[in-house]
Amino acid sequence: MFSTKFTTTDDLPEPSPNLINQVIGQDEAVEIVLNAVKNKRHALLLGDPGVGKSMMVKAFGELLENSGHFTPYTIISKPNLKNTEKPMVELLEGNVIERIMPEEKPKVMRQPPSMLTLVLIMLGFILVTQFLLKGVPETQMLGIVATTTIVGTLIAFIILFLAIFGATKASMPNSISPADLKPMVLYECPKRPLVRASAYNTTKLLGDIKHCPLGGKPPIGTPPHKRVILGAIHEAHKGILYVDEIKTMPLDVQDYILTAIQDKKLAISGRNPNSSGASVETNPIPCDFTLIMSGNMDDVSNLRAPLMDRIDYKVVLKNKMDNTTENRDKLLQFIVQEIKNNNLNPMTYEACCELVKLAQLLSGSKNKLTLRLRRLSNIIKMANDIATGKELSESLNEFTKNGALDLDDNEGESDLIIEQLSQGDKEAGKLKNVVNKITGKTYKSTKKSNKSVDELRIELKARISDLNAAEGKLKDKKPIELADVERVLDTGIYSMQKQVAMDYLENFKEYKNIHPNGEPTVGVIHGLAVLGGEGLGDVTRIITKVLNAKNPKTSLLNITGDIAKHSITLASALSKKLVSDGTLPLKGKDGGTDLSEKEIYIQFSQSYSKIDGDSATAAVCLSIISSLLNIPIKQDFCITGSLDLNGDMLAIGGVNEKINAAKEYQFRRVIVPYSNYKDVINIEGIEVIPVKTLDELIPLVFDIQ
Ligand code: ADP
Repeated sequence: MFSTKFTTTDDLPEPSPNLINQVIGQDEAVEIVLNAVKNKRHALLLGDPGVGKSMMVKAFGELLENSGHFTPYTIISKPNLKNTEKPMVELLEGNVIERIMPEEKPKVMRQPPSMLTLVLIMLGFILVTQFLLKGVPETQMLGIVATTTIVGTLIAFIILFLAIFGATKASMPNSISPADLKPMVLYECPKRPLVRASAYNTTKLLGDIKHCPLGGKPPIGTPPHKRVILGAIHEAHKGILYVDEIKTMPLDVQDYILTAIQDKKLAISGRNPNSSGASVETNPIPCDFTLIMSGNMDDVSNLRAPLMDRIDYKVVLKNKMDNTTENRDKLLQFIVQEIKNNNLNPMTYEACCELVKLAQLLSGSKNKLTLRLRRLSNIIKMANDIATGKELSESLNEFTKNGALDLDDNEGESDLIIEQLSQGDKEAGKLKNVVNKITGKTYKSTKKSNKSVDELRIELKARISDLNAAEGKLKDKKPIELADVERVLDTGIYSMQKQVAMDYLENFKEYKNIHPNGEPTVGVIHGLAVLGGEGLGDVTRIITKVLNAKNPKTSLLNITGDIAKHSITLASALSKKLVSDGTLPLKGKDGGTDLSEKEIYIQFSQSYSKIDGDSATAAVCLSIISSLLNIPIKQDFCITGSLDLNGDMLAIGGVNEKINAAKEYQFRRVIVPYSNYKDVINIEGIEVIPVKTLDELIPLVFDIQ
């Protein structure tokens, strides 16, 4: 199986500390994209989910981080006193926090003078005048005092007027408090960034301006420059911007990204038209990034042509690799990595072999191994859960055997201990959960105990530490075994969709009118289908009846239901050709048929599954021929395969799932296209017959005496 023999994965070398060396099976893609990143070219990664797209990008980020010179930068925003709605965002190179954050001295606000000040000014004025007027004759005094009072009052009012006028004018820009005039640090970038964002998250991608509501956050009156939120495109400046799920990228976002790529800067404005942020717009902010996007193969259609044109490298990741010793070793390396990276228990040799077999099964071919490794990774983690779950119950058994809590004999008391302790003690709470989980009971207590809570607490704490120690020891030792992996495979690997389908098939199997031991029957054949997208095979009974047409030459074909139209059209054309041009090595019992006089009815009996593509053409075609020529079909086989107009059997998908379905229904034989035979993984329990042409099919299928 592998090039080395080992007992558990602990015997194998440690995985490479560099993430890039941990990516398996995608050498070509890694090389191309690495080149793209080094040369600051934009790239698009396409491939099935879980083949390592994000992992690759993360690895590039790691490599870039340690490569070349990088000047850290800080992005700040400042208020714009001329136009508060246009805050100014600046990018400053170097570690510049101290440089940019000195208190900016706000202009001192001019307050209008108070009434008291005015009265004091007037009094002062009068006093000064009186002092100066000492010695002036009394007759002139009255006139002078009156004049100076009037002049003083006038001056005071002029001062008041000017002060109020000036203060009002000044208060317009200066209604911002001194704190609000400070610049704000939006982002500090100490090392070359790798920023990840989902394509649908417009705010995260492009940035936004926060709403300034009446109350709440930010508090009312927060100036616009403090409400700026940078986008991932800005934070990725000088680094990599990784955008996944391109299928969900709105068209306008694509335009913005295009502009950002071209101009290497993009302004931020409020995105919600109903928000007060909508009236705010910053200056264009630098965003010189390398764009890496990823998605599934079909997602490309969502990308607009101008954006696609800017993507220099388009790379397709593989979803399977050849089943060779070298690649099985790589898979083993992957298992070791997953164990190490997720801090799991080691895995035995047998369990590793089982995972390789699973990788083979998931690839759909005997000669391949799947590279959809996230699924395998999940299975490894689940198997670890099972292995460690076992430890817990085993150690709990030890624990109860020691007499700390005799759960069976003295349930009431142990309940009480648990109950009391769990009220004030976290550890006891934890134990209670463990006990509940393992015994499947929920403990409630009514009895009273003689022991004080403190006594019980001490006792139980000691036991818990025993338990933890025992658990720790077991954890060190116990590897993930074959049985643990097998338990996951029983149910855990299947998606919800497949579990529903399995449940459904299980329930309906007994009601299906399928008889693998039935007598040869005219027009009846067993085809094979795949249920759902998840690869679960099903047997479908196809029945064809040929009747004399009521209105000859008007209708040749009638289909019950709407399934496999394509297949039926092709099959009817093919059978017509074969029957009418005499190439078929069959002679009908009723001596040939004039098709123009007939109506053909085809039924996919009790079929709840979608029959995919044209993989039913062979079955449908044979069924039509049988009915037209009145020749019975043997009932002990299922058939899957597509036929072309020359009568050649063409490859189909899901051959292993289909063979399994035929086995499930206890058919003796299954006929598959010759070109699919190399993919067949397990031929135990059924005769798998590979076939190249329709001619080869005839003796296998028809009951010709
Ligand atoms: P994607 O982005 O293609 O959906 P991820 O990179 O998120 O897939 O893969 C999920 C996990 O599966 C990774 O974190 C890693 O543990 C494992 N994995 C996937 N592909 C590979 C690979 N080619 N080599 C090693 N591990 C992989």
